[in-house]
Amino acid sequence: MNVVNETLIRDVVAEVLGRIGGATTTTTRPAPTPTSTPAARSDSCGCSTKKTTSAPALRGKFGVFADANEACAAAQEAFLQLQRGGMAARRKIEEIVKALAEKQAEAWGKIELDETKIGRLDHKIAKLGLIKLVPGVDWLRPDARSGDHGITLEEYTPFGVVGAITPSTHSIPTLSGNIVNICAAGNAVVFNAHPSAARCAAVAVRAYNEAIYRETGIENIACIIEKPSLDSFNVLCKHENTRLLLVTGGPMVVKAAMQTGKRAICAGPGNPPVLVDDTCCPTRAAKAIISGGAFDNNLLCIGEKQVFVLDSVADKLMQRLAENGAVKLTSAQLDNLTKAAFTFKEGQGGGCAHASVNKDYIGKDTSVLAKAAGVNIPSDTQLLFAETDAQHPFVQEEQMMPMLPVVRVKSVEEGIALSLQSEHGYKHTAIIHSHDVENITAMARALDTTLFVKNGPSPAGLGLGGEGYLSFSIATPTGEGITNPRTFTRVRRCVMVDNLRIY
Ligand code: NAD
Repeated sequence: MNVVNETLIRDVVAEVLGRIGGATTTTTRPAPTPTSTPAARSDSCGCSTKKTTSAPALRGKFGVFADANEACAAAQEAFLQLQRGGMAARRKIEEIVKALAEKQAEAWGKIELDETKIGRLDHKIAKLGLIKLVPGVDWLRPDARSGDHGITLEEYTPFGVVGAITPSTHSIPTLSGNIVNICAAGNAVVFNAHPSAARCAAVAVRAYNEAIYRETGIENIACIIEKPSLDSFNVLCKHENTRLLLVTGGPMVVKAAMQTGKRAICAGPGNPPVLVDDTCCPTRAAKAIISGGAFDNNLLCIGEKQVFVLDSVADKLMQRLAENGAVKLTSAQLDNLTKAAFTFKEGQGGGCAHASVNKDYIGKDTSVLAKAAGVNIPSDTQLLFAETDAQHPFVQEEQMMPMLPVVRVKSVEEGIALSLQSEHGYKHTAIIHSHDVENITAMARALDTTLFVKNGPSPAGLGLGGEGYLSFSIATPTGEGITNPRTFTRVRRCVMVDNLRIY
């Protein structure tokens, strides 16, 4: 196909799809001035008029829409523009998001904390500084085969518009990482953020789009619904432009997404157990547990949530925890905190009252938890811990607080069994501190989790102090694992029969 014909076909397809997606008219608007990246595939036929599918209602919003239908229409249009911009435009978007996330880390970390009131400012800033570690365009390499019957190429191609749901625990970091992954794969995205973290998300989306528009002329590659609700979630999921869903959140939203009938990539809840045996270095284990469990006040879905330790090393481990910045609660203090941090609903626990986490304590500082426990602690306390039994609410619930329950076990077998039970089949993350390969292997097999970290803090599983790459969306129940650009692609095969094998 020559260039003119390809351009013609693209324009016709763009126009038809634009109309389907709600873009009512075809207008001509002044071409934006790309400051650096020229479109890899020119959509100019050489004449001076630049033809686009712009709909006036979608202009000037820079991704922030009151109406979910408009957001989906704008994203569809941006997807088609990105298709024309080719790999150069994708690369530019990746560069912009990574650079802006780092540059704005302090300001955006602050507005996210001000809005959500959960987590720690230093770690909110750190999470945004890490977006540069999210894999982008270079991740996508076609697979090729060559043989007696010619050559075959398998390409990782975009879906179109991805509908993405983001959590309150890391609103801007999740959406930033998602944009890198999703747009590197050639898609556009529409976000329905958590209502309690939507204002900060919209600030970041607008800033990204303004910069992307300046550099590439694409205006709405990442859209967001300004006031997200269950209604906007439903519109987004049902919209014909939405080809794929990415959900990052707890059990309810995972269930809701799976019921939509659309393909959903679900980054669901976790409750990561830690097993400590008598072969590990207790100092290293204690430091790792504090570092992972205290990060952003334990908001990470991969963060250490409960510790099972062999009786023979339990005292030593707790001593090391205390020496490295954690404070131990007495059982009376633990009781006080438990009464504040959980509510107990009668009749929902199979005869016993069922504990649910009190949202007022999620992601709060150790000082807030200590006050509820009735204890004074040093202001730089990273983490609280307390000895509990295995059925304690702090063990069984995904509590997301910087307070770790420590449970003594008599054997590694018992520790593995209790770890498995407390993880509730989420298959998310588990951690072991051990130098015994048989113990490590036994736990890895039994827990069957998406992430399994040995002898390090949980973030090592996302390339932070361990090998690997970063994403804030770890697809657990649907099995895609740590999401990356390839997660958001369709594999398409192109076959040349009997020719083009060059030897
Ligand atoms: P949440 O489930 O309350 O909210 C997540 C998102 O889902 C929000 O945008 C929310 O508005 C939406 N939502 C919730 N219920 C919904 C429903 N019934 N229908 C439609 N949308 C709905 O979670 P959160 O408190 O914001 O985040 C913490 C949870 O997310 C934890 O369970 C944590 O483990 C999980 N999480 C998982 C990952 C991962 O990569 N697997 C990453 C971050 C957080």
